[in-house]
Amino acid sequence: MKRLVLFCLFVSLCVYCCALGEADTLRVKNIGKVPEDFIFGMDLSSVISLEAGGTRFYDFDGNETDIFVLLKQNGITHIRARLWNDPYDAQGRIYGGGICDIDTLVRIGERSTNAGLKLIVDFHYSDFWADPGKQTPPKAWQAMSLSKKARALYDFTLSSLTALKKRGVDVSIVQIGNETNGFFCGETGWLSIATLMDSGLKAAKRVYPDALTALHFTDPENAEQLLYYAKQVGAFGLSYDVFAVSWYPFWHGSLENLSAVLSEVADTYGKKVMVMETSYPYTSLDSDFSGNTVSVGALDAYPFSPQGQADLIADLADTLVNRTSSAIGLVYWEGAWINAGGTSYAQNLKLWENYGSGWATRFAGEYDPDAGKYYGGSAVDNQALFDPSGHPLPSLKVFRRLIEGGK
Ligand code: CA
Repeated sequence: MKRLVLFCLFVSLCVYCCALGEADTLRVKNIGKVPEDFIFGMDLSSVISLEAGGTRFYDFDGNETDIFVLLKQNGITHIRARLWNDPYDAQGRIYGGGICDIDTLVRIGERSTNAGLKLIVDFHYSDFWADPGKQTPPKAWQAMSLSKKARALYDFTLSSLTALKKRGVDVSIVQIGNETNGFFCGETGWLSIATLMDSGLKAAKRVYPDALTALHFTDPENAEQLLYYAKQVGAFGLSYDVFAVSWYPFWHGSLENLSAVLSEVADTYGKKVMVMETSYPYTSLDSDFSGNTVSVGALDAYPFSPQGQADLIADLADTLVNRTSSAIGLVYWEGAWINAGGTSYAQNLKLWENYGSGWATRFAGEYDPDAGKYYGGSAVDNQALFDPSGHPLPSLKVFRRLIEGGK
């Protein structure tokens, strides 16, 4: 067993050294003029928990650095971070996943603003992960009628954004719901969904009138379904600015389809569109002893390598800038969610439970039964733009190179 672990560490080291060795050979195509206000975002929701557990980040010269400053220097324009209402059990034990409560969000917001980056606030309206399969309302809202829940959602949005505003955080986009797909904060009927979304949109505009508001859906490979969502939120008269989608290349269809469906939404309803989440692996290996969601099955066009990551990001940017109506940007999802720092599962389990740097702790099981069974670390450390020790991969350079015309 010990030999196997040492062998795996050796192989990992070789892969990472090879990855770093690409520093001078990274090729980025020229996609023409990138609009000055085009968003190259990075979701950093877990970074505070990682740093609390001892993780440090480094620049391309190997010097320890503030990751927010490093990202700004490398062409990132926006930081995205999720917000959960109450990610703790009754004894105050953390659910994990970055402990994304308002205090964490304020810290991320302040550091973003200090580094000259804008913030995208991702309201899940849940105490833990919300996605197409899970839209569990916060514990405190679960017995509420729709009208009371709408009021609570308005108040929570208002108070959370006010906390950011008081600290001078530069909020650029407020996202009302995460991967909602006809399911939002426990509601499935469109009248109920629209009632709640309307509350959030109004609160956002009240605190940050100049920020864009966004609704976020996923599964763009199903164009008919996505167009149905756009039609429904239009039919209920929701006033929002950005129709956003997740687009993970290994799940969500071709770039041609993405461009076609987003353009149709933009042209039909007069909305801006964007890709709110994307990512791609640089290796098939896991580095934190907690399995990854994507470890096999590379797309033909993109090998699992920093070059593959950069090519994917460049092709997506090219599609949005040059072949999609009213596209305003893309966000890379959790590009710094690396190994928490341990050299064994047992060491990492302590870090995840103490600092929340894994996707879930066992204490989240009371709220999310899957978390109770499958709690652990990062499922996307092989899709980061940093190696397991916090050094940037060559792929982090893709954003600035796109802005500078490729090379
Ligand atoms: Ca992992």
